[in-house]
Amino acid sequence: MVRFENVAKRYGTFTVLNELNLNIARNEKVSIIGPSGSGKTTVLRMLMTLERISDGIIWVDGEPLTHMEKNGKMVPASERHLRRVRGKIGMVFQHFNLFPHMTALQNCMEAPVSVLGLPKQEAEARAVELLDMVGLADKKNHYPIQLSGGQKQRVAIARALAMRPKVMLFDEVTSALDPELVGEVLNVIRKLGAEHDLTMLMVTHQMGFAREFSDRVCFFHGGRIAEEGPPDQLFGNPQNERTRQFLSAVL
Ligand code: ATP
Repeated sequence: MVRFENVAKRYGTFTVLNELNLNIARNEKVSIIGPSGSGKTTVLRMLMTLERISDGIIWVDGEPLTHMEKNGKMVPASERHLRRVRGKIGMVFQHFNLFPHMTALQNCMEAPVSVLGLPKQEAEARAVELLDMVGLADKKNHYPIQLSGGQKQRVAIARALAMRPKVMLFDEVTSALDPELVGEVLNVIRKLGAEHDLTMLMVTHQMGFAREFSDRVCFFHGGRIAEEGPPDQLFGNPQNERTRQFLSAVL
């Protein structure tokens, strides 16, 4: 469903990611862990086209995201092509990024109406359904400022789902939350994984959750995948010295 093929990201002479090769199957749940600055967030931002890649190709759902075919050749994607393929991806950010002047319901309706062109009634019905799914049906008319951090993050998840993505990206979505609010957000992600046909890629510092929830965990170090594998293997019997050092520092 998602494939990074020899992808690199550089800022000037500084290489953030180097020859990244990562293939994520449909419905697979993959966690990215690793030390600060290892390039984890950059992977998600490139996929969301918030960052341009320096080299390589990213594929989504069988189509090139960063490129398109023209006269039998691969050329850099046009804005229109990027927008269309990126439409298959939803992202939830660490700091919610909700529209502050809109209610929870309006936040979930905005893009379906303005980007997908859904009739308002249909977008509203879907938004209500999604807010119900994340346990916030009774808060639909609240503005972000009237919601707790955990509630805001659950609205952000509902908002991303309103665009019917095939792939969901989660970037440290519990890092800005008070500890007692982390559980409610992880529960929603658990439920999503169990009940929806979604490929999920998450950057997380929640090692317990990564171990329990993921099909595969990738440990990033210095802009590369230093080690990857099923969670029990990576957490229980890491092979790479860097992984061992990292896990002994955080667990
Ligand atoms: P953290 O866990 O702290 O969020 P991370 O593994 O997600 O870290 P990234 O945010 O992907 O790391 O950043 C990787 C590296 O790229 C860092 O060294 C960062 O300083 C650098 N970087 C990110 N964005 C830019 C930018 N716009 N210009 C220059 N360097 C950048």
